[in-house]
Amino acid sequence: MSTGTSEAVHELVDPSTGQVFTTVALHDTAATDGAVSRAAAAFRRWSAVAPADRARLLRRFADAVDADAENLAALEVSEAGHTLAGARWEAANVRDVLEYFAGAVERHLGDQIPVAGGLDVTFHEPLGVVGVIVPWNFPMPIAGWSIAPALAAGNTVVLKPAEQTPLTALRLAELALQAGIPEGVLQVLPGRGSVVGARLVEHEDVRKIVFTGSTAVGRQVMAGAARHVKRVTLELGGKSANIVFADSDLERAAATAPDGVFDNAGQDCCARSRILVQRSVHDRFLEMLEPAVKAVRVADPRTPDAQMGPLISAAQRERVASFLTDDALGGAEVAFTGTAPAGPGFWFRPTVVLAPDPRVRVATEEVFGPVVTVTPFEDEADAVRIANDSRYGLSGSIWTRDLGRAIRVSRAVEAGNLSVNSHSSVRYCTPFGGVKESGLGRELGPRALDAFTDVKNVFISTD
Ligand code: NAD
Repeated sequence: MSTGTSEAVHELVDPSTGQVFTTVALHDTAATDGAVSRAAAAFRRWSAVAPADRARLLRRFADAVDADAENLAALEVSEAGHTLAGARWEAANVRDVLEYFAGAVERHLGDQIPVAGGLDVTFHEPLGVVGVIVPWNFPMPIAGWSIAPALAAGNTVVLKPAEQTPLTALRLAELALQAGIPEGVLQVLPGRGSVVGARLVEHEDVRKIVFTGSTAVGRQVMAGAARHVKRVTLELGGKSANIVFADSDLERAAATAPDGVFDNAGQDCCARSRILVQRSVHDRFLEMLEPAVKAVRVADPRTPDAQMGPLISAAQRERVASFLTDDALGGAEVAFTGTAPAGPGFWFRPTVVLAPDPRVRVATEEVFGPVVTVTPFEDEADAVRIANDSRYGLSGSIWTRDLGRAIRVSRAVEAGNLSVNSHSSVRYCTPFGGVKESGLGRELGPRALDAFTDVKNVFISTD
């Protein structure tokens, strides 16, 4: 749990009502230093716990998350405006990721390398204190993706949630303690990015930063980490392409395109926010897309059939709207929109923009809201060229029935995560991360423990 002095109190606003529903204490630099000292002390003990015992505690933690899933989901709905169905999936994802990395601890094998004059072996050594900085868009799973492998590998964690969404992370820290994970091994410190986040980045005793957030802040984190040659994993922004070829199951591509971009009201780093459609089927695709977009149920996230909730804040709503001014559209035009409640709450209608020129601002910058552009392309080479004409490279989708094309385009598109005839990006057992300005390193999947350990080589002379 968070301890130490607090510098201010932050009001948490329910995005679906616009009302303050609770407050949280923000920590200052001194409290951050205190947490890092406790984490460093806890590291000496936690890293010495036998891997099987760490795994047992992580499984208990997973069980505690499972038992508390409804409460965790309700917190995520209140602070982040997620739909209840989405928030339940997120709680289950945290449970799964804890179980997965509990199972991985004892399989994280070193090498035995044939050398002359002795025995050569490698060890995966934990790093020490890991600082985890989390954004507001998926606060619970993103916290879990670092906590689980970091603790499994023997590190301790100081986690800073986003100002808007600290509650699920604080609850996870309580559940970890209840499960028997020792004091100091997982600490959650609500605070400002420029205070707690920046201090974690510059603190000499924090050996790694996992940062998920905007590319602009990610750049600062990487520069700050250089001072002590700190390891970094960066999960940053995206502007992913959804490429629809004429030979695809066009009906399915159109019916699912809203899921690919309007999930979490488009506040999803993997949002397929650029639909690229082969020109010969462009108009037919749009005819099918329109009813699919109008059918998206944008509603109070607590109602069971809500498919999309509100944006996180009034400021975010203004930011999203700023992409739809004539200036920002630069000749692109809004084709149609879905519906949204009138308010209160930070609602925004799913919006489809025709962008024949893929270089306009709304088609190149990350909107982080329910806005998607549709751009025609001529052939495979043209599709790949437009998809790659971006500083980002996180995810994307390719719709085609031609297997050869699916493989060719998957290899040619510059992105860390692609799906063919699907919009699925995240599974706890497969690697996740970006290329170019979308990030550095991979989370999840079978090699994630490598990112939370250093390889040590030991040569033992037999002479
Ligand atoms: P943000 O960069 O503003 O903030 C992210 C976190 O960094 C917050 O906890 C914030 O308090 C903290 N922070 C801010 N300034 C800091 C500083 N100087 N030093 C250290 N920490 C600081 O991002 P956001 O608006 O919360 O999140 C949205 C962004 O996150 C989008 O760009 C989205 O694409 C990206 N994102 C990426 C992934 C991914 O896996 N690639 C996942 C989710 C979100």
